[in-house]
Formats: sequence, C-alpha cells, structure tokens
Amino acid sequence: MSPSRSRICQGCWQHMRMPIPIRGALSWPVRLLGVRISRMHPNLCTICETMFTRVKRRKQILVPATVLFADLRDFTTLSQCTESSEVLGVLDGFADECAAAVWERDGIVNKFIGDSMLAVFNFPILRHDHVEQAVLAAQDIQRRWAERRRTLSGRGLVSPGLGVGIHTGVASIGEIGTAYKDFTIIGPVVNMAARLQAAAGAGEILTSTDVYERVAAAFPHCEPRESRLKGIDGPVTVHPLVP
Ligand SMILES: [Zn+2]
Repeated sequence: MSPSRSRICQGCWQHMRMPIPIRGALSWPVRLLGVRISRMHPNLCTICETMFTRVKRRKQILVPATVLFADLRDFTTLSQCTESSEVLGVLDGFADECAAAVWERDGIVNKFIGDSMLAVFNFPILRHDHVEQAVLAAQDIQRRWAERRRTLSGRGLVSPGLGVGIHTGVASIGEIGTAYKDFTIIGPVVNMAARLQAAAGAGEILTSTDVYERVAAAFPHCEPRESRLKGIDGPVTVHPLVP
C-alpha cells in the first residue's frame, strides 16, 4: 500500500502556504527549475529539504518529533558469508517495506544506512498524532517483514530478523554542511531511539516511556522492563510492544 499521491507538495503548503505542484500538468515548469519529488517522501519536494536557510532563516530548528529506527539483526555477520546478490535482494526488500509503512503514516525516511533506517514523524508533514503514527508504522514494518521473511526462508534464502526502537521529544532538524548539504535530525531523541533499537530483539518494537504513555490504551498487556542502554547512565524503563 502506498500513500495517496498529492498534486502539491504537502511540506511547502503546511510550512509556507506555497502550492508547489509536484504532479500533473502544472508540475513541469517547477521541474524545469530543478525542483523534484523528495526521496524522503513521495508527497514532498526538494525545496522542503533546503527550506531551513531560505525560509526558516536558520540552519537548525527545534521541532517536536518522533524518531523511529529499524535495523536488521546480525546482518553484517550474515552478509559476510552470503552471496552479494542475495544480500542486495534482502536490503531492497527491507528498504521497500520500511518506506511503504513510514510513508503511509506521513513520516519521512531520512536515511538508509546499510541495514538500518532512520524515520522521522511530524516534519515536514505535521501530525498532532505523530507518536501514534510512528507506532502504527513500526507494527506495519514488523508485519511486512515477517511476511517477507517467510517468503525468503521458503526459497532457502537468508532472512534476518528486524528490531525497531522509537522515542519522542524535541529534536533539532536542519542542514549540516555548507558545500555538501545534508538534511538531518540530531539530538538526544535520536540517540535514545537508536539505543532502543539496538536493545530490541528480532521481531520486537521497543519504545521509551514517553512513547508508551501516548499509546498505552492500545497495549494494555505491555510488560515494561529495565534495560541498560549503551551510552546512557543507569537502567532505562523500556516498553516492548507486540506488533
Ligand atoms: Zn516542498
């Protein structure tokens, strides 16, 4: 399932009230100016990725956001003893399933780094329910991946598990670099989401208490546990959610 494709860029409309056509007959003059559909979401344009210095007049802005990391378990070890075409096939599937689940819920895929994905909810497409949307996306990612794993193992191919971590809070979003500009998100929210993901087992979604409190009604049987997360002092209460 892919998100409904809009004719104008949702980010430019929400942040600047500018109707930038990205599909249909009106989009060609914009394309001639070099504006393209963003790789991060099919309803955003490349202006959204560079709006910081031009529109917001700052390289970084603080935004309430939910950050989701998904990562294939033990993939580095697996890829060392597996045919490269098979490895690429697994990564293609991982990217496709993750992107579809995130886009459907108005999140952006900020980066794929090998066997790992960083997704952000509530920027540039604003959603007051961004925490809930991120959790729904995580469940969808696990469901989709479980299905794909069954197909892969049925064909005798490697089928690594997948772990997800989610945290929410105020993050710094903007551009890094001057010659080579990169749209990025940084801050403790990102670090915590990455640590939760690293602590998640295959098939698991681990969230922070801040995330869990927003979705608790949907997960009454969640059993929180204390976990030591790399780089964070003291135990942290983590909440495993059933996909
Ligand atoms: Zn845009």
